[in-house]
Amino acid sequence: MEKSKIISEKLEINVTNRCNLSCKGCSHLSPICIQHNFDTEKLRLSLNRLSDVFHCETVRLLGGEPFLSPNLQEIINIVRESKICDSITIVSNGTLINDKHKDILCSVDVLEVSDHQTGINIEYIHELTKGACKLVVLDFEAFREPYSEQGTTNSALTDQIYKTCLIANVWKCYNLEDGYFYKCPQAHTLKAIKTLFADGIDVLNTPDLKAALEKYITCKSPLSACKYCLGATGKIYSQKQVNRKEWRKEQDKPTEEMLDYQFLEKLKTKANSNNHCVKSIISKEK
Ligand code: SF4
Repeated sequence: MEKSKIISEKLEINVTNRCNLSCKGCSHLSPICIQHNFDTEKLRLSLNRLSDVFHCETVRLLGGEPFLSPNLQEIINIVRESKICDSITIVSNGTLINDKHKDILCSVDVLEVSDHQTGINIEYIHELTKGACKLVVLDFEAFREPYSEQGTTNSALTDQIYKTCLIANVWKCYNLEDGYFYKCPQAHTLKAIKTLFADGIDVLNTPDLKAALEKYITCKSPLSACKYCLGATGKIYSQKQVNRKEWRKEQDKPTEEMLDYQFLEKLKTKANSNNHCVKSIISKEK
């Protein structure tokens, strides 16, 4: 691989915004997102262009719930052909996986299951992945409030939320969505409910793409989405399912009321502090 490319651990692609669950505070806003048709041709074109200047260890296919995507196998093939990554990971809530998905599991490298205490059968999923792909199970015991409906007018606070953001700055959850490169999922998911500036880079129409991406990734100023987002510093809560009609009401408070100030201060001194959401991780080789 040429040294001149931007190298990253991951690139995330939301293969669908549909989900069979309606978790409180879903940072991808799946419970309330309007369903759209995934443009596989645009993905192919933008991955081909992006792969000239960017390479990552793994492309993470998530959602919504990826196994609800009618295009999942086609998307996997497009990602593989682009050679943008060394491996492909599906990130699933584990509730829909069954033996009909064997071909899909054989075509990826890792199945990562987020166990949201929904009673999934890990042993059954492990049987399905044997000989097909590696299985990683993250046991979530808590979550953090992801965004505030009311946001904040305090630009200094927005700046602190951005600077301590694990998602964009430590985990580097870069996203490719509808032909745009974003430094986090919230930069595009929050656009579904808030009027925001363009917070990403147009992969297909930006002349010097590598220079534009480098400038964007290292930019010290918050995104327009950070005004509503809580980054990594939202208050911690236990998982629960919420009626989709009531879902936004749970977030209808100002940013100031939804922050974990103690954790915000901790992140200022130690950028990669544990957010205390994942209880344990199980990893089983192929
Ligand atoms: S919108 Fe801002 S605070 Fe939220 S994840 Fe992205 S960079 Fe972080």
